[in-house]
Amino acid sequence: MTTSNVESPLDVAQIRADFPILHQVDDEQHPLVYLDNGASSQRPKSVIDCLSDVYAKHYANVHRGAHRLSGESTDLFEVARRAVRQFIGAASENEVIFTSGTTMGINLVARSWGDSNLKKGDEILLTEMEHHSNLVPWHQLAERTGATIRAIPITKDGQLDLDFLPKLLTERTKLVAVTAVSNVLGTINPVGQIITAAHAAGAKVLVDAAQAVPHEAIDVGLWDADFVAFSGHKMLGPSGVGVLYGKEILLDEMPPFLGGGSMIDMVEIDRFTPAMLPAKFEAGTPPIADAIAMTPAIEYLEEVGLERILQHEQSLAAYAHELLSDVKGLRILGPEVTAKAGIVSFVVDGLAASDVATFLDGRGVAVREGHHCTLPLHKKLGISASVRASFYLYNTREEVEKLSDAVHAAVEFFG
Ligand code: PLP
Repeated sequence: MTTSNVESPLDVAQIRADFPILHQVDDEQHPLVYLDNGASSQRPKSVIDCLSDVYAKHYANVHRGAHRLSGESTDLFEVARRAVRQFIGAASENEVIFTSGTTMGINLVARSWGDSNLKKGDEILLTEMEHHSNLVPWHQLAERTGATIRAIPITKDGQLDLDFLPKLLTERTKLVAVTAVSNVLGTINPVGQIITAAHAAGAKVLVDAAQAVPHEAIDVGLWDADFVAFSGHKMLGPSGVGVLYGKEILLDEMPPFLGGGSMIDMVEIDRFTPAMLPAKFEAGTPPIADAIAMTPAIEYLEEVGLERILQHEQSLAAYAHELLSDVKGLRILGPEVTAKAGIVSFVVDGLAASDVATFLDGRGVAVREGHHCTLPLHKKLGISASVRASFYLYNTREEVEKLSDAVHAAVEFFG
């Protein structure tokens, strides 16, 4: 039996009932088939209701008002921090920094930790499958400090070639920045193994967990990661909020990234002293309602069960592999289904990815096309763009069939 025949462990019909946006049709009565979850997921009613409830009943600025409403919103904000701490296995709430998203978290580490710890001759080790968010902040850091960028190459089937690790990890390596799951290939990387090797070489590790946290149970303590960044909007939460996890011992030593209100202990006209963690890294008014709505997002994921979610997505990916395998000239990027999350990116010989995606949209199937913020990866693969279908807990086998039917039709139409 192939993985695609394995029955989903989820009651998808019941899950779909919780997501109002999924029940719409386009002008030509095509039901929405939302397969762009890698870019951003949709939200269950509990998250939408939480946002409206906060604004209707509890909203005020946090950590600064003497009045009742500010106390209520501060309590809810800190409840969300506790929920995140427990969700990712952090040791303390001081290790959970609310950011605006993965990009902001990585920039925070590059500016604050990077500027204080890197110098000319040091090396930053990345991989060839990183999102621009986990590339450009390190390029900028290298420009500022004179450090050098190196990259772990990928194999032909889209996995990290860890045979290169002993050669690439040297006493010059100060930081390894790696994605836990590729947003294009779907590859699930052996993060724990990389972290162990990096620590043995004396390097710190930042994990880009934007595509991992929504789909697999992570434990930052088990990984022994130094920094982990992820976004709310890819894990049923609101956009505009994300999380940076950092080991307290590291965050304690790091200077603040942004300056402003809330991040200080004391300010005089010509100096300041920073606040304690986590406030030190949360300058200005944070995304209050968005952070609060992380609590129902996490509750939803935990109630369904992340292991079951990943299993469901992998069975959909396997089904997609099976149905797309007979499309003439179609090549799926990345490894076998067993080594990846629910992401199926592909190219079709002679067809522009944008044409395929537009054709699919005409049938209600929402996918992403382009380089998916991974230009170096696409260059390595010898392509300029690809089409990406990315699944989540509310997608069905019927939707995979609609994707496949639409791709077959596109090839016939353009071919
Ligand atoms: N890293 C990966 C692997 C991603 O897939 C994304 C978004 O697609 C990001 C980083 C950036 O996330 P955000 O735009 O939420 O900051």
